[in-house]
Order: sequence, then structure tokens, then C-alpha cells
Amino acid sequence: MAHGTNSTLPSDDVHAALGIGASIPRTGSAGAQAAQHTAAAEKLAEQGLWEQAYRHLHAAVRLLHGQRDAAETSYAPDELDRLRREHAEAREQSRRDSLTASYNRRYLDERLAALLDDLDDLDDPAVRTTGICVALVDIDHFKQVNDTYGHLFGDRVLQRMVAELDAGLPEGAFCARYGGEEFALVLPGRDLTEAVEICEEARHRIDRYPWLEMHSALRVTVSIGVAHSAGRLAEVERLIGEADELLYTAKQAGRNAVAFRAERSGRVCLAGPAAGRRAIPQPARTTG
Ligand code: GH3
Ligand code: MG
Ligand code: MG
Repeated sequence: MAHGTNSTLPSDDVHAALGIGASIPRTGSAGAQAAQHTAAAEKLAEQGLWEQAYRHLHAAVRLLHGQRDAAETSYAPDELDRLRREHAEAREQSRRDSLTASYNRRYLDERLAALLDDLDDLDDPAVRTTGICVALVDIDHFKQVNDTYGHLFGDRVLQRMVAELDAGLPEGAFCARYGGEEFALVLPGRDLTEAVEICEEARHRIDRYPWLEMHSALRVTVSIGVAHSAGRLAEVERLIGEADELLYTAKQAGRNAVAFRAERSGRVCLAGPAAGRRAIPQPARTTG
């Protein structure tokens, strides 16, 4: 093994030995070139192109050590594993909301689009026949919680809320922070009746949660709109748009309620004990 000693060694030999194309300029200090290789490695790893990513990392390491021996091109499986692991961790973090650790909006958009796309050719017959339900959950009068107890306390309520929402999710479902004090529940393979039941249970669980343990006068409730991916709603924006409209109806109808549109009549209804409330607004179905 030949170790070079010149740290500004041109990298042609390293590139040739590692099978890397001409994408990285071969001028400048070894340190600068190594930094470019590291950046290229990260980009390739993001695309799952592990071997190419590894070549670039390898080039970076060798440039930094002034090595250019072609015999050094074999891959260390440990390194490749480490790279994969680190990338998987970084990817997982990029999908999470930093305050609540629930999935974030980016993950929601990507995953929901993929689920809707795959609906026709999924192996799981339950998902294929029943479609997907999406619920939007919004904390009632949350501004008052912040105003009364402070923003940091409000943050803790949000964290508790995610734990309570996650607690009742069936397998395959997930919760994502949609923004602010709003969350989306995605329920693949559930028909509207099942989804409304799951959401009504969540609403009830949150209503009954001992919030008083966080503060002696605290009470927290949520309003929820549930939509089903039937027909024209089999697109992310429409599905979320319908859930949002139903959520708004639940708010108008007095909050602490789950709103959905009955499949046969198309009428907007409230689930559970709220069903008996009077004057439930009836927004027209959005078209387009
Ligand atoms: P409604 O029942 O109509 O939903 O009333 P609301 O007070 O919940 O709704 P509004 O939209 O007026 O207020 C939402 C509040 O959520 C205001 C905002 O400061 C708060 N909020 C959004 N994100 C965060 C956060 O990350 N932490 C905290 N503590 N508060 C947040
Ligand atoms: Mg809101
Ligand atoms: Mg709110």
C-alpha cells in the first residue's frame, strides 16, 4: 500500500481508482475536494445509491489521508452499513415534527399521495376495497390555553395530545402534525363507519383525559372532520379539503364533536352524543 504524503495531491488517481466520473473538480486543496466528495456522497445516499455514495466517501477519506493506491477500492461492509444507518436516521428525523415527534406535514403529503396512488394495486384486499379515511383534528380554543398558561405550557399540551391521538390508532394508521394545533389521522383500509368510530373514541378519550393533572383548571377538547377517499376524493388535496370542511362544521356545531358526511344521504352528521345537537350546518359538497 502506497501512502502519499502530499496533502494537495491531484485527485485523478483517486478518481480513477474508485471509478468516479468527472463530476468533482480535481483542482484545489485535498480538503476542499474531500468536502465536495462528502456532499456528493450525501446526495447519492439520499437517493439510496449506496455504492456510489460510498465511492465518494471513500475518495474523501483517501484525499484527506493523501492516499492513491488502486488496491484500496474494496468496500468495507461496516462502513456501508454505518452509512445506511445514518442515512435512515436522518431520513426518519426529516419526517418528524421537532416539538411533538409525530410525523410532519411533508411525510403526510408524501405518504398519503403514495397510499392513494397504490390503492388499486395493493396486495391488501382490505385497503383495496375500503379505501382510506383521513381525519383532521383541531384543538378547541387552543389560543386560550396559550393565553392563560403560556406558550411553553401549550407546547406540553400539544405533546400530550399526540400521545393520546397515537394511543388509539389501529395498525397501519398514522398521526401527523398538519400545522399548529391541527393533526391529521390517516386510516388506510377503514371504511367511513369504522373511521368515525375510531375518531369518536379519540375525541372521547381526549375529553376524558385528566388534564387537571397538568393544571387544576385545564380542560381540552378537540373537533374532528372525517372524509373517505371515495370517488372524486381519491386525491390528496380534495380528501384533506373535505376533512377540513367537515372539521369547520364540527366547530360551528359547537366543538368537541366528530363530523362526517353520511354516504347515502350526503348529509353532514355528528357522531356519538353530539348527534342530537340542533342546527348542524350543511355545507354543499365542494366541486371541481
Ligand atoms: P378554535 O376552537 O376555533 O380552533 O380556536 P383556537 O383558539 O384553537 O384557534 P386559533 O386558530 O385562534 O388559535 C390557534 C392557536 O394555536 C394559536 C397559536 O398560537 C397556537 N399554536 C400553534 N402552534 C403552536 C405551537 O407549536 N405551540 C403552542 N404553544 N401554540 C401553538
Ligand atoms: Mg386551527
Ligand atoms: Mg383550534
